[in-house]
Amino acid sequence: MSARLNEPALPPTRADATHEVLNQPPPLAGYNAFSGDRILLGSLRRAGAAWVEPEGVALGALIGSERMQTLALQANRYTPELKTHDRFGHRIDAVDFHPAYHELMSLAFGAGLHSLAWTAKKSGGFAARAALNYVWNQGEQGISCPVTMTFAGVQVLRYAPALALEWEPKLTARAYDPRPLPVAQKTGATIGMAMTEKQGGSDLRAVTTIAKPADGAYLLTGHKWFCSAPMSDGFLALARLDDRVTCFLVPRSLPDGTRNPFLIQRLKDKIGNRSNASSEIEFRNTRAHLVGPPGKGIATIIEMAHLTRFDIVVASAGMMRAGLTQALHHCEHRSAFGSRLAEHAAMQNVLADLALESEAAALTAFRLAEAFDNSAKDANERMLARIMTPLAKYWLCKRNPVFTVEAMECLGGNGFVEDGPFGRLFRESPLNGIWEGSGNVICLDVLRSAEREPESLTALLAEIRAGGDNAHLNNYADRLESEFADRSNIEMRARRLVEMAATALQASLMLRHADSRAAGAFCASRLGFDWGHVLGTLPARTECKVLIERSRLQ
Ligand SMILES: Cc1cc2nc3c(=O)[nH]c(=O)nc-3n(C[C@H](O)[C@H](O)[C@H](O)COP(=O)(O)OP(=O)(O)OC[C@H]3O[C@@H](n4cnc5c(N)ncnc54)[C@H](O)[C@@H]3O)c2cc1C
Repeated sequence: MSARLNEPALPPTRADATHEVLNQPPPLAGYNAFSGDRILLGSLRRAGAAWVEPEGVALGALIGSERMQTLALQANRYTPELKTHDRFGHRIDAVDFHPAYHELMSLAFGAGLHSLAWTAKKSGGFAARAALNYVWNQGEQGISCPVTMTFAGVQVLRYAPALALEWEPKLTARAYDPRPLPVAQKTGATIGMAMTEKQGGSDLRAVTTIAKPADGAYLLTGHKWFCSAPMSDGFLALARLDDRVTCFLVPRSLPDGTRNPFLIQRLKDKIGNRSNASSEIEFRNTRAHLVGPPGKGIATIIEMAHLTRFDIVVASAGMMRAGLTQALHHCEHRSAFGSRLAEHAAMQNVLADLALESEAAALTAFRLAEAFDNSAKDANERMLARIMTPLAKYWLCKRNPVFTVEAMECLGGNGFVEDGPFGRLFRESPLNGIWEGSGNVICLDVLRSAEREPESLTALLAEIRAGGDNAHLNNYADRLESEFADRSNIEMRARRLVEMAATALQASLMLRHADSRAAGAFCASRLGFDWGHVLGTLPARTECKVLIERSRLQ
């Protein structure tokens, strides 16, 4: 055996080849995920953010490149490792990442994925940033966690103006600086979030971490059960101050250069999202600064959750687009039973249904981005963003896993091997539904919004009706109005109500912005129930070929 191992490998020759490789699609690389996407470009122009196109084109080329695919594969295969101590026994609580992770972080933060909404000099910053995020999530998803938390953390830190003055320029800089230094010495900084404890994640009133005043700041003692991106420079954390849940900023390094006690107990062995470290941590007299009023911790940090949920909507739409792109490519080049897969009627139905679902998801994400952009000057849009964020978060997170499984199946066996992107997309797809509010909690938030801020429900119903005089839509809007008004058993009906509202909203957006044949097929299937229980069950009259062609990257 060992003698054979030592023999030099024979160069491959035609003589020892057993077969010719046939009927395998060419690698999907060298395309532009931004400029080729008509639906994305249309949404961006409508939102008044076409100015981001040059940056989008550059990012789109990166995402469609072989280099990006290699980085994503490596960062998820060679996963982060915890180093609690150095070789001399000193506690360091560091996480080692593969170089591919650092490169991805540099690319994402260098492109302003985390900051464009705050730094844009023109209107439409949320939509422009959403476009970049939508494209990025077609390449790699683990990096989106620190990107999103840094983006969302900026808003919360503004409740502590002195901290914001120091931190915001670093948090919005287009730079990734992984050095463990005090924020003042860094070229760019990142933010994480530490809310969830063992005894409660959704129910943040159960927080047990204690804060005690000390020298103009506070010392925290307690634990966090999920804390992602633990190498971030600061964490927004909840702790009890005089028994009232309060929000704090925990810097990883102190101004004198020493590390703040931040004891990483272990890294979670996660089902997906593997490039990103998620940890269990303990605070032991850990220095922290107050953010927002004492006792208002949940209300303060929920603003971060709201923006994170918005990002999740965009990310989910991007992931669906990624699955669709893969499925279209494969079916275009692979043949079975004498013709290309894309020419088989049953496959056309699947691809067309995927295309409809992906388009509706993208329109939802960009309408939400537009509502965020308009929020400062339009109370109605602010109310729409309030209710639409959990609504869209719930629905797209529910659709994404179903969508991904179906897109994966289009590739047959090739879809189920780790060399391609589907392993990552598949394992990632349920995650967004869990963090930042799991399904039920998110539906209850929609109900809360409708009850406490009735203008948000009015804005939502108006947005649905804006789809025009469509019988299905009118019927849905009428039903939603009376179902929301009826408070009996409302929690029991929460998922049904949110699902109905989300589908009607998507139909309204399709009627306004999609090709009339696509909008017609969406309404017939999703509102008219001329549809089965899985994707690929559109009515036989559907012009599937047209829908497929529209969804191809140009
Ligand atoms: C990969 C990953 C990374 C994470 N990173 C972070 C992080 O960086 N920082 C952080 O703070 N947290 C993080 N989390 C935690 C995440 O936000 C929580 O897991 C999530 O909020 C749910 O909380 P829980 O796990 O305590 O579940 P629970 O709150 O126990 O909920 C369990 C289930 O019960 C349902 N439920 C809860 N309340 C109700 C109700 N009133 N009515 C009906 N159903 C209800 C929920 O919808 C859920 O389905 C992360 C989680 C994951 C998976």
